[in-house]
Amino acid sequence: MEIEITKLSKTYSNGVVALKNVSLNIPTGLYGLLGPNGAGKSTLMRIIATLQEADSGEIRLGDIDVLTQKREVKKILGYLPQEFGFYPKDNAYNLLDQFIMLKGVRNKKERREKVEMLLKRVKLWNERKQKLKTFSGGMKQRFGIALALLGNPKLIIVDEPTAGLDPEERNRFHNLLSEIGEDIIIILSTHIVADVSQLCSNMAIINNGEILFKDNPVNAINFLKGKIWEKDILKSDIENYEKKYDLISNRLFTGKTFIRIFSETKPENNFESSPPTLEDVYFYWLSREN
Ligand code: ADP
Repeated sequence: MEIEITKLSKTYSNGVVALKNVSLNIPTGLYGLLGPNGAGKSTLMRIIATLQEADSGEIRLGDIDVLTQKREVKKILGYLPQEFGFYPKDNAYNLLDQFIMLKGVRNKKERREKVEMLLKRVKLWNERKQKLKTFSGGMKQRFGIALALLGNPKLIIVDEPTAGLDPEERNRFHNLLSEIGEDIIIILSTHIVADVSQLCSNMAIINNGEILFKDNPVNAINFLKGKIWEKDILKSDIENYEKKYDLISNRLFTGKTFIRIFSETKPENNFESSPPTLEDVYFYWLSREN
């Protein structure tokens, strides 16, 4: 199955253009939608999840016309929003049990097996008696995945899942996503480049409602091979370098300011060639936006 998005546009009633003619093909596996805050990621995710209307365009998910056949989409969708209302007084086991009951599973043994399978899958079995309000951010996200997995979805949408998670929790969450992501479509919306580089076999970069780039991360990086140059400079010189070179990023490291520039050929001024990273890809395409 594949999602085909064609010329999707959305303007909010206050005049903000959140999506402009977005066209994307999203195959099975993990797909990264990368962009800064306000880029339009959540709007796109919510439209695909049928939680919001588009103004124009088309989305097809296999045989389903997503914008009109909302009920069909809901049957195969698992959606994990940035934040979702919890029932903080319940423990993980009971809450999941209730959701499974709502899905129409009356048989107790069947429910018990399903709860156990899901909680073990997201590695929260040992915490099953803990109230949700005591869960850390990462545990909540993993619980969210258990909820998303309830209906055996073919499409899972995860919106900014790792914002606010510590490195260990992020790692666990990444592992979980890559375990479940083989034969279904998982769309991961994020502003964190590392989320995409570690996980996703395909990606798009979005900003101001427009897709700036789409490909797989390996091609994206290869495109910049031999064209990224680095140098440490005085912080006060940044502006000069910015005027003269195609500066794509700067960072502080051990008290020094390192700049990275894009150039087809070796620049003057003792720049050293540096292997491109997905972060270079991200900043390169953001800086190309007009
Ligand atoms: P992202 O998820 O990439 O941070 P969003 O899709 O949330 O981006 O937002 C895209 C743009 O649309 C932003 O400028 C945001 O302020 C605006 N926006 C989002 N939701 C609404 C809304 N309900 N009403 C008006 N503007 C909105």
